[in-house]
Amino acid sequence: MLALTPLLQPAALLKTLTLLKNSQRIVLFGHRGPDGDAIGSSLGWAAYLRSLGKTVTVVMPDMEPDFLRWMPNVQAVKHYSEEVERPEIRQAVAAADLLCCLDFCQLSRLGDTGLIQLLQHAKAPRMVIDHHLDPETENVDALISRPEASSTCELVFRLIHQLGGYGTMTRSGACCLYCGMMTDTGAFAYNSNDPEIFLIVSLLLKKHIDRERIYRNVFHSFSPNRLRFWGFLLSQRLQFLHGGRAAVLAYSAADMAAYKFRRGDAEGLVNEPLKVRGCRLSVSLREDTLQSLCIHVSLRSVDDIPCNIIAQEFFNGGGHRNASGGELHCTLQEAVKTAEEAIEKYRHCL
Ligand code: 5GP
Ligand code: MN
Repeated sequence: MLALTPLLQPAALLKTLTLLKNSQRIVLFGHRGPDGDAIGSSLGWAAYLRSLGKTVTVVMPDMEPDFLRWMPNVQAVKHYSEEVERPEIRQAVAAADLLCCLDFCQLSRLGDTGLIQLLQHAKAPRMVIDHHLDPETENVDALISRPEASSTCELVFRLIHQLGGYGTMTRSGACCLYCGMMTDTGAFAYNSNDPEIFLIVSLLLKKHIDRERIYRNVFHSFSPNRLRFWGFLLSQRLQFLHGGRAAVLAYSAADMAAYKFRRGDAEGLVNEPLKVRGCRLSVSLREDTLQSLCIHVSLRSVDDIPCNIIAQEFFNGGGHRNASGGELHCTLQEAVKTAEEAIEKYRHCL
């Protein structure tokens, strides 16, 4: 019989229990450009903490994409970039007994919204629950870092389970955690070979989540414009290099405007070239619609091709081995050149 391996060793478990016991007001943070895992893990952890009677505030640097707007309780998330809500967030942070960072382990992932300074100057202890490489440890009181995990949602589930909270987990809480596990694994297509993942999924299903509906909400929620936009980019903007082993997809703010681009419309697009047989590395370059000379970079790879190292070396970013991101401050044409150089340098891995 498969059983869940405990997430925390006794000393770490005791530390976590003590931190939770000593805190009543807790603020949770997710990263900039929140994805299903950042939002799912924050909402799932918030639901558990509320079940313990805690007062919880969830803060994100910016809005969730449209395809995550159905998530239970997402409308209660506070966005720091919205001028009007800043004092309220500042007060919550100042009054907090505990701060939790979910799905990121480097403060820079909060973006330049001022949240970094807010966290740096906060007095409350800080807990980090995350699955990215190279966690920062300065001022972190409890670090739960598992780069081998499928998602932060998996970690939050394991943590709640170990703390004895599975019994009272609600359907909504389960739904949030399932959503992040699903989105970070491409609906269990990658990063999900650990058999225990499916034990967790079965435990979440026991909470009566509607797995098929969650899938449709996330992956089958295109607008006609979004579908046509993808069609346009794949036919007119996608370039294959090195005999099809690598791909670069670069698109401008004008391309996006032509298809009435909305936040989240590019989510998943970088994976498309990998559907071509033999394609092993995909780089997408998206011009920012508001700031000039800002290019958002996404990288995806298969097997041992180290996206995170390529992202660090060429794109001011990082991430996981097979899924990374970064940012360039140059024109789109210059960004394409940089991507071509990066691919050339790593040609031996392709
Ligand atoms: P996406 O392509 O979905 O924007 O990002 C894929 C993954 O790359 C994210 O889950 C995150 O782990 C990582 N990532 C994206 N942008 C950055 C960045 O600027 N810095 C770092 N360290 N990681 C990033
Ligand atoms: Mn994640």
